[in-house]
Amino acid sequence: MNEKQLVDDSNPAGLPTIALLGMGGTIASSAGVATQLSDYRVTTGVDLLIQAVPALQSVARFEYEQLANIESHQISDGLLLRLAQRVNAWLTMPHISAVVITHGTDTLEETAYFLNLVVQSHKPVVLVGAMRPATALSADGPLNLFHAVVVALSPQSVGKGVLAVMNDRILAARYVNKAHTTNVDAFVVPEQGCLGVVSGQDVQYFNTTTRRHTLSSALHISDDLQSLPSVDIIYDHQGAGVHLYEAALRAGVQGIVLAGTGNGSLSPAARAGAALALEKQVPFVRASHVQQGSVRPSEKDVDRGLVAAQSLNPHKARILLRLALLNTRDRETLQRFFNEY
Ligand code: ASP
Repeated sequence: MNEKQLVDDSNPAGLPTIALLGMGGTIASSAGVATQLSDYRVTTGVDLLIQAVPALQSVARFEYEQLANIESHQISDGLLLRLAQRVNAWLTMPHISAVVITHGTDTLEETAYFLNLVVQSHKPVVLVGAMRPATALSADGPLNLFHAVVVALSPQSVGKGVLAVMNDRILAARYVNKAHTTNVDAFVVPEQGCLGVVSGQDVQYFNTTTRRHTLSSALHISDDLQSLPSVDIIYDHQGAGVHLYEAALRAGVQGIVLAGTGNGSLSPAARAGAALALEKQVPFVRASHVQQGSVRPSEKDVDRGLVAAQSLNPHKARILLRLALLNTRDRETLQRFFNEY
């Protein structure tokens, strides 16, 4: 075979190919005027987002899939499952080097952690969003998108688990947390730190995640899975009532996550709610609504039928519990999942 025959006519420069999946969000939104930073609408397809960043054409080829074009608080279980199934399908294609997903920032960390647990590949998967719409003064979307692609193409990103790239930082899905409502520097990982930084085409890692993810995760989903066990989060506070626990159990939830106070302590109502859940053999995970630190297992958890969420915040604890419930309801086994993932 001569050299000519080895050249792909549609890709003469031999660039790597990225699957770019569009979900919507502020990165794909526009407003009437450049100073309008809220009340904008999701308008733009992922193909047009790429066209707005011409520099991307010299680093990669793109294949697109627009899975949705909505705000991320509208994402349903069905869509989340379909996204995960499509990411796995794209990653099995030998010519695809990585997947980049444009996504709303409100629930970006939920999707990222879900994918971190169910993607069956070491190839990079990077989620990216923006805090300002595409029409805004100093919109952050174009550079975030460029950086996301550069990170996805970096050989250093292979095997790191699912990543988020926002405001020059590379963040692990396991730890990334949205901590500001509007600032472009909204995503932080105060305790464990970000994995690395990206500037232009320069990617620098200085950290790695130690929890199980992607190929080392045993939490698979099948290609035809259509629904997930239903799990509610209940927020604890002074003077809480037991009625939310009663209502959740009456509605048939298969698990409860407590967004508890402090070090995962339970108010009297939460204690009563946990007792009701134990009676009905509904797993009950205690997390904390405090931003940093771990809720570690305690000896009392065994008798009370509780599982400690470790360093997962309540909404990520809910994701792990839902996936774990596809395998088991056993308290000890569930605690093992929370210790390892
Ligand atoms: N409302 C937006 C969303 O879809 C926020 C964002 O994308 O930053 O999550």
